[in-house]
Amino acid sequence: MSNIICSNNSSPDENIKMQNSLTDVFINVLSLSGSYLAKTVDEKRLIVWISEKDQTLGRGCVGFNICDMPWNKNTFYDNKKFILKVISSVKNKLGWEKLDYTPYEEWLLPCLDKFESLIKKMTINDIRENSLKEWIENSESDDPINCNFPRCKKHNTLLTFLGCQICNS
Ligand SMILES: [Zn+2]
Repeated sequence: MSNIICSNNSSPDENIKMQNSLTDVFINVLSLSGSYLAKTVDEKRLIVWISEKDQTLGRGCVGFNICDMPWNKNTFYDNKKFILKVISSVKNKLGWEKLDYTPYEEWLLPCLDKFESLIKKMTINDIRENSLKEWIENSESDDPINCNFPRCKKHNTLLTFLGCQICNS
């Protein structure tokens, strides 16, 4: 089973298609690097949302459209820069020493390149209306996004309602 990451109007060639195990690695490294770099609430929210693409609840089906991410229109361009910085830091293996395995770069790097292209092309008009609002409204009061963004003690990653995406892998 494979997972697809796409954007509005992205072509099949531009989309990222990954098997479950590679998807797990892809989310692991974004979660690590993103958690390390996230400073603002908007940045932390974006990383928690990506880390929620956790296959704990069943294998597969964790693909997403980047326009559904909880972008804040007021800070979109800063946040877009932040995500691009997270991607380039992943390429520099930021935080990889915390993983108990070594990601297979030959498979991972092409997916990161595609993710970078999708994010680069995205504009403020692509943001799905209300994605941020609905995501927050649908969260429980004890969800980490409502409790000051606690982190995993082992991986220093931002937790999701499912826990640490890396511990769960
Ligand atoms: Zn962990």
